[in-house]
Amino acid sequence: MTTVMVIEDEEALGLLLKYNLEKEGYNVVWETSGNKAMASVEKCCPSVILLDWMLPELSGIEICKMIRNKPDIKDIPIIMLTAKGEEEDKIKGLTAGADDYVTKPFSVPELMARIKTNLRRAPELLPEKEYVFEDIRMDLVERKVFRGDKYIHLGPTEFRLLKMLMETPGKVFSREFLLKNVWGNNIYVESRTVDVHIRRLRKSLNEYGPDYIRTVRATGYAIDANTANEDGE
Ligand code: CA
Repeated sequence: MTTVMVIEDEEALGLLLKYNLEKEGYNVVWETSGNKAMASVEKCCPSVILLDWMLPELSGIEICKMIRNKPDIKDIPIIMLTAKGEEEDKIKGLTAGADDYVTKPFSVPELMARIKTNLRRAPELLPEKEYVFEDIRMDLVERKVFRGDKYIHLGPTEFRLLKMLMETPGKVFSREFLLKNVWGNNIYVESRTVDVHIRRLRKSLNEYGPDYIRTVRATGYAIDANTANEDGE
């Protein structure tokens, strides 16, 4: 469910927004003050924020700047709600990192349309189309892997393994985790099976470039540009 955070101290407007957003199927978190809002943004990680300009404690613009400076929340689209005719405020808001603004009083359909547009613009909400690591490119739509311009043929298990590794480069995945997430819970396979398929994956991938799969002794595997294998494999 997509969460919209409303940061608005005016009760009538907050209620109106909450009612209409919920009617559209959004989950709504409504905050009425600056300090609480900041803590709440970090906790709820909303998909879009409707941010009022004039708020107690912190102004909308201060909140906007704070959000943009926090790595884990900085990409959340922010729509500023500004009072009519305050051109200078709009410019300040956009400079502070707001993605869009609507002028009060606004029509509900207009605001809903703006929310949809801004959600589309947020890259993390769109499904990933490809993963890239160094010269390895995985096309998730066509389910094909390339190294440079060379097509790499992988079996379905090797494909899923590589996909898991490429989703978070550098992260070490344990054999148990890979078994559960690549093979699924239902099938009984030994942890050695992971090693067998990693070997196959390496063989196919390394035909056209260096070995980026790192074996971490007694733990598992990662995809990593630092290819020094701890077990010398
Ligand atoms: Ca206000």
